[in-house]
Amino acid sequence: MNAEIIAVGSELLLGQINNTNARFISSQLSELGISIYHHTVVGDNVGRLLEAIRIAESRADLIIFSGGLGPTKDDLTKETIANHLGVPLEYDAIAIDSIESFFARRNRPMTENNKKQALVLAGCDVLPNHHGMAPGMFYEKDGRHYILLPGPPSELEPMFQYEAKPRLASLVTEGAQIISHVLRFYGIGESALEVEVEDLLDLTNPTVAPLAGDGEVTLRITAQAHDEAAAKALMQSVIEDILSRVGKYCYGTNDDSLSSKLTRMLIDNELTIAAAESLTAGLFMAELAKNSGVGAALQGGAVVYNEHMKVKQLGIDRAYLDKYTVVSKECAEAMAIAVAEKYEADIGVGLTGAAGPDAHDGSPAGTIWIGIKFHEHVRSYELNLGKKRNVNRLITVKNALYRIIQLLDECGYEKLKNNG
Ligand code: ATP
Ligand code: MG
Repeated sequence: MNAEIIAVGSELLLGQINNTNARFISSQLSELGISIYHHTVVGDNVGRLLEAIRIAESRADLIIFSGGLGPTKDDLTKETIANHLGVPLEYDAIAIDSIESFFARRNRPMTENNKKQALVLAGCDVLPNHHGMAPGMFYEKDGRHYILLPGPPSELEPMFQYEAKPRLASLVTEGAQIISHVLRFYGIGESALEVEVEDLLDLTNPTVAPLAGDGEVTLRITAQAHDEAAAKALMQSVIEDILSRVGKYCYGTNDDSLSSKLTRMLIDNELTIAAAESLTAGLFMAELAKNSGVGAALQGGAVVYNEHMKVKQLGIDRAYLDKYTVVSKECAEAMAIAVAEKYEADIGVGLTGAAGPDAHDGSPAGTIWIGIKFHEHVRSYELNLGKKRNVNRLITVKNALYRIIQLLDECGYEKLKNNG
């Protein structure tokens, strides 16, 4: 089955809103293993919408529409489709009820045009709208499927997920089970990862699909079989194969993030952490603090932005910093050691560098040092990034999180434990 999404709305063409509906639907379709070859955007115009429908019918057997199901004059999606398919519109009793009770609850009179929202394609499978008034539609004609969804994402997303997706799943799988699993990587680029697993990208069951963003890369493994256990077994052998090749870069699975993963590892192993932050000025600790329960692990830390505070707050020898500069391996390690001691933590992190766009203390913009102290281990890592200040600060935080996860893993604390 291959699909096309037609997003209807002049505001999309005018650049007033992003087409997040297409993005959402696409990611959901890929979970079902449905190929999606085209996203179309068309304004609120009958002629151009008709043209878009004809083109989509020439190349897709599932066409999903977003928007234009509302009560106003510019909402013309279902009228246009009904005319085109030669199918009448009829009132859906359940939808009328829910629209009337919506107005009754708010003590407002219902205007006649609102009733228009309860009109659906005759013979369609009505998709109830639990977050708004206009119902969606699932319709089949001549072996082609049409799904009509309301524009507001707060209505479209749950309707797709809970109403349309299960219907599509049973169409594509005929009772089979589809499961998928995401492996998350850091410290390896998308193209380098692809080279390592290139042969696996051609598999058809399970499928392996890469995705990159924000310095991270993921692989989604999707397997299909007559029951869940068989699908899991298919998937497991490919996961093991991938991990045997690039496992050292894999930090987590599914909904993990670097900071949630590290938080879990710290809590599970009763380890504590503290950070001394220069260029990141608290960003590292803020990232960890996103995770509930981190209070058991995060002791605190210091923002020591200038050299004087590195000396005063952390007790690092000024002559030592003068000798090596604050953008150095020595400074990062001294910060990590000092903060671990002062904040009574198992792990100390020191982040220092030239955030950019200017050079700092003799080092070019983007030169960054990460120091990590964990019990008897002291490590440091140099990053050479570009000139974009806030990108560099974020990458520094992610890289530090990743390095700590790797170090703990090396010391026998399993990083892929709890991988759901
Ligand atoms: P309504 O009953 O609200 O009129 P509708 O089904 O008629 O819903 P539209 O009028 O096309 O949908 O869009 C309503 C709102 O939904 C838009 O103003 C916009 O905020 C949002 N929206 C529409 N299409 C998209 C899209 N493709 N991606 C993200 N948001 C969208
Ligand atoms: Mg509308």
